[in-house]
Amino acid sequence: MTFDQITQLLTKVAPFANITNDELAFLQKPHNVLQADLTVNGKTYPAYRVQFNNARGPFKGGIRFHPGVDLDEVKSLAFWMSLKTAVADVPLGGGKGGVTVNPKELSQEEIEELSRAYVRAFHGHLGPQKDIPAPDVYTNPQIMAWMLDEYEKIIGKKAPGMITGKPLDKGGSLVRDIATALGGVYVLQEALNVLKISKRTVAIQGFGNAGATAARLLADAGFTIVAVSDSKGAIYNKDGLDITLVEKVKKETRSVINYENAKKLSNEELLSVDAVILVPAALENAIHKDNADLVKAKVVLELANGPTTPEADVILHEKRTVVLPDILANAGGVTVSCFEWQQNLADERWTEKDVKERLKEKMVSAFSALWDLYDANDYDFRTAAYVHALKKIIAAERLRGRV
Ligand code: NAD
Repeated sequence: MTFDQITQLLTKVAPFANITNDELAFLQKPHNVLQADLTVNGKTYPAYRVQFNNARGPFKGGIRFHPGVDLDEVKSLAFWMSLKTAVADVPLGGGKGGVTVNPKELSQEEIEELSRAYVRAFHGHLGPQKDIPAPDVYTNPQIMAWMLDEYEKIIGKKAPGMITGKPLDKGGSLVRDIATALGGVYVLQEALNVLKISKRTVAIQGFGNAGATAARLLADAGFTIVAVSDSKGAIYNKDGLDITLVEKVKKETRSVINYENAKKLSNEELLSVDAVILVPAALENAIHKDNADLVKAKVVLELANGPTTPEADVILHEKRTVVLPDILANAGGVTVSCFEWQQNLADERWTEKDVKERLKEKMVSAFSALWDLYDANDYDFRTAAYVHALKKIIAAERLRGRV
């Protein structure tokens, strides 16, 4: 979504959150926009850090290395993070970073140098109580470790809480690798209970980090996964897929479509299979005005960011399909990032059981808060999430006297 589209959306939602026009104008302005040119081996790459809102806690958000990165995208994603941390009710604000680069064209040494250059450019604005980056598209725990190392060299002391998504041996958290999908599963189970839906059939679009982990966790929890897909296509078996076998086939042949005991479908067809739950976990705008009406699911769990267009939202709401929106459904990732930061600040190492219990508690209470709003109003679940998040952010801004 472009920043202009976000602005339009907020203008629509703000009255439901009792936000004045002046307050809205304030909320739409990033606190700080940082830009630098990073030079590696004689080549220069534009880099950004947008610190959007810190009324509820330090800025928080990933750093993306991608050729498509520009300021508008980083600004939009930074705003999105402000909403997500508010919905998850973690004591953090929203930020995002990026470098316009194709990392596939760089050697490992160059990627390391780029990561360190990023920290050298912005270090004065980063820190455990200021702004805490994390991995995003094409950045990973190793890159976080290099960034932390550079930061600690500059400030001359240890500060593991300045960045999350670190390797376990550098102060990372257990469960971080499955946190997005696990948080989504907790939200889904809560929604099914409240909606009194007992049938547990699932179709999942995307079999990467988010989608494949969700398939594994849902299968282990007794759900029947009837369809999954990747970029090559979809597979469907109304009696359920053997997820262990799908994982093996994906690993060995690089695509789920080589799984034998299933019908082959297109990714578009997967959206309309007979399943009670649909999990988009791949692309933006996968559910749009031309296919929304074909969706048979009663519940859509948005593990991907932005998989449903605004037009499709209207169609699904009219059909009484409950869309559990991205800023709730995939907030498990940032929630465990917050746990990592809290462990670093307190110099603690939480057990896997501890992290999972705390994550469940956070996701269940986030869902309940939104459900109460959704249940009491005519708008859809996504609008409930925006209203709730905006109310929390503006309440914090009012308390610090900025608006
Ligand atoms: P990934 O790269 O690991 O997996 C993406 C999957 O989508 C792959 O299976 C790929 O084959 C599939 N895919 C690509 N093109 C497709 C197409 N045309 N049709 C169907 N499938 C296609 O990425 P990921 O980390 O799983 O992220 C997926 C989504 O979840 C993104 O929107 C991402 O922003 C969101 N998300 C992920 C996390 C996380 O922690 N991984 C956190 C928050 C949000």
